[in-house]
Amino acid sequence: MDLAVIGAGTAGCALAAALRLRGWSGSITLLEIGRGTGGRTATRRSRRDPSFALNHGAPLFNISANPEPRLLEPLRQGGWIAPFKGAIYSLDGDGRLGAALPAPLSSGALWQGSPHMDGLCRGLLSLAQQNQPTRLMSGTLVRQLEPLTDGKGWRLYGSEGQPLLDCHWLVLSGTLLADPRCQGVFGWSEVPLQRAADQRGDPQLLQASAALAAIKSTASSNLLLSLGEVSAAAWRLQPWSLLQFTPDAQERWGIRRVSLQAMADGRWGVVVESSAAFAERHLQVHGSRSSAAQVLGAAPQPQAEAQVIKALDQALQDALNLSTAGGEGQLMRWGAAFPKEPGLPPKLSLCPDSHIGFCGDAIAGLGFGRVEGALRSAEALAEQLQKVGAEQLHSGINVQPN
Ligand SMILES: Cc1cc2nc3c(=O)[nH]c(=O)nc-3n(C[C@H](O)[C@H](O)[C@H](O)COP(=O)(O)OP(=O)(O)OC[C@H]3O[C@@H](n4cnc5c(N)ncnc54)[C@H](O)[C@@H]3O)c2cc1C
Repeated sequence: MDLAVIGAGTAGCALAAALRLRGWSGSITLLEIGRGTGGRTATRRSRRDPSFALNHGAPLFNISANPEPRLLEPLRQGGWIAPFKGAIYSLDGDGRLGAALPAPLSSGALWQGSPHMDGLCRGLLSLAQQNQPTRLMSGTLVRQLEPLTDGKGWRLYGSEGQPLLDCHWLVLSGTLLADPRCQGVFGWSEVPLQRAADQRGDPQLLQASAALAAIKSTASSNLLLSLGEVSAAAWRLQPWSLLQFTPDAQERWGIRRVSLQAMADGRWGVVVESSAAFAERHLQVHGSRSSAAQVLGAAPQPQAEAQVIKALDQALQDALNLSTAGGEGQLMRWGAAFPKEPGLPPKLSLCPDSHIGFCGDAIAGLGFGRVEGALRSAEALAEQLQKVGAEQLHSGINVQPN
């Protein structure tokens, strides 16, 4: 492979699409733990229930500044994204509805994937595949990185220690392999990026690895409720489709935001995003149906999971005075839902001597911690890669002029 990208969330898919739009004709492979693309903008689906579709991460995204990311226009043209048309309200600590709060997640132009949030990454992947094949290896955890002996590339290893592929250039679009918590949470003996940086001995990569390891994040425990047409009747009468909880309301009910989502067969989804404090208290309890939990081999905890689902369900009913009777609940625990500042300085996002780069919402800059940041960081890295690649044609990268 000329380029391997770890992660097929917004940033990984956007990087592949941005490179193709710039005329990059080298081979690209995206490696992703999940069943498909999307990451934190994925839509939860069910093999047994084809109409089931719930956005279990971001329900929308906002572009807060101009010029907008270049990828937005082809995504709009292809019908992969559409303006977010839902009504946004707030709920205060006394249970009163009010106007939308000026929040970082809802300023500027509001967009959603079409028809569901996973349209965003499906669209980006389709742009990445328009002129050249771009391969997606889903259900694949990259567990270890090893510098090739010529110092100009990488070998990637999977969950069982099996070699996955060799590549000239490597991009990490998530922070998992740099996060020291992987030692405690998954019992890994070392932090994979730190080990690779030590082996490589490149001062810039060592700095990048340390900066990524220092990034902290807030978690979110999400309740995904599916309501039949009858159970959803009162919910559908609500004036809002997205409800933000004020700080007082978050403290009282442990909920940060609620979204109402229509499904194709008349069912409705209610997605409850917990407050950071609630998620912190229940950090050890993950959603057993998440593919990441399955691939990463976390042990199921049915009782603890049922308790968290019950607690969020009860808080929702209390806060809104609406019944969830007849609903089916699932839990999705995002251990790292939002990175905390300062993030990775952009000057460390490409280490040309080591042929490795970084993109994603944890790169400092406009849109940090949001979809906008994931898109912008990917576009910026594509530009840098193209520049460096043009200077290093001999190393196997084939870059055509725009
Ligand atoms: C509950 C929730 C609500 C949100 N709401 C909003 C919102 O309203 N507006 C907004 O703009 N943003 C929102 N966000 C944030 C937004 O979803 C993220 O900023 C954005 O999706 C980040 O994209 P990314 O590609 O940087 O990271 P990710 O989407 O996390 O992608 C990284 C991918 O890499 C994969 N991966 C990581 N390590 C490995 C490995 N070793 N091997 C293989 N694959 C790997 C992961 O599985 C993942 O798919 C929300 C997030 C959450 C969790």
